[in-house]
Parts: sequence; C-alpha cells; structure tokens
Amino acid sequence: MSRGAVFVDRDGTLNALVADPASGKPESPLRDTDVELIPGAAPAIRSLTEAGWTVIGASNQPAAAKGRVSLAQLATVQARVVQLAAEEGARFADFRICLHHPNGVVEGLSGACECRKPKPGLLLEAARAHDIDLSASWMIGDTDADVLAGQAAGCRTVLLEHPASAHRRNADVTPTAAMPDLDAAVTWLLSRSLVD
Ligand SMILES: [Mg+2]
Ligand SMILES: [Zn+2]
Repeated sequence: MSRGAVFVDRDGTLNALVADPASGKPESPLRDTDVELIPGAAPAIRSLTEAGWTVIGASNQPAAAKGRVSLAQLATVQARVVQLAAEEGARFADFRICLHHPNGVVEGLSGACECRKPKPGLLLEAARAHDIDLSASWMIGDTDADVLAGQAAGCRTVLLEHPASAHRRNADVTPTAAMPDLDAAVTWLLSRSLVD
C-alpha cells in the first residue's frame, strides 16, 4: 500500500551554502571539505524517519553540466552530505539528483530535462520506485523551484526562508507553509499531522 514521503532539497536545506569563488554569491558547495550541515537539519530528518516517514532527497546539481567540476567531484560532495547526516542519525530512503542544465556545456548533461526542479521529475521517479502516494507527501526546500516542483508533483510544500538563498525566492509561489529552517518545518509538520 502506498504511503506519503517527505522530499527534501539539499543545498540551503540540509547543508549550508558557500560563497561562489567567481560571483561571491551563496551557492552549492563544490568541494567535500566545504560541506557543513545546517544546525538541526540532520536531527530533523531523523525525527521524520522515527515518526514513520520515508525521507527522500531531491537536488539540482548543475555544476558538472556547466563544466565547473567533474561528476566525480560532485559525487564526493554528495557523499559528504550523506555521511555527515548519517553521523547525526539521518537516513534517506533515496537521494535523487538532477545533473542537467539547460545552458550547460558538457555533452550528455546539457539541454532540457524532465528532472531539474521546478519540474517534478525527481519526485515522480522516486514515487514510482518507492510506491509513494504523492498526494500524501511533502516537498521541503529553500527556493521557489522546490515549491513549484512539489506542487507539480501533487505534494504539499514547505518553503524554508533561508537568508542566504533569498535571491531564489520571489514570493510568486504559495507554499502550504513557510518556515525559517528544516528543524522548524519538521517540528511543525510532525505536530500537525500523523503519517497518512
Ligand atoms: Mg536549496
Ligand atoms: Zn535533469
């Protein structure tokens, strides 16, 4: 019988953003040594799984498509996020990543895709793989693209108002709720609803 899941974004939701060496803007970490979890994020994931929720990561990682780093380097960053989260008891049932970018320069990773948020492909694929009921599910992330992807997949959504990613929120979206961080979002979610 299918059940709900909580989909969570990665950068700005689980781990902190880091200043891009070129632009100075807060962006995804591109080296594993730059990965730092946001305080309270991993324990929040642990609380969700302890309450019976399936937790699935869903992240856009276009830096290899843009030719800035290798796929192998992106993989080391992802592994570090998962490792640090696991050290605090957080387990993901799955972690889906879009490696594409519409204006990328690397063959095979560039051009339109169905999985780059705000498209819902990552959530739809994960739902098929894990027999997830999307109408009983949530998407939590710190940008408008996260909310739009969640809504396009038929999920309820929580927008995290992470200060460093304010430039990726334009208030054109209407999430189910807005919260300061993942810790607050999960506390709210667990207080309002039992697992469907
Ligand atoms: Mg994010
Ligand atoms: Zn994609």
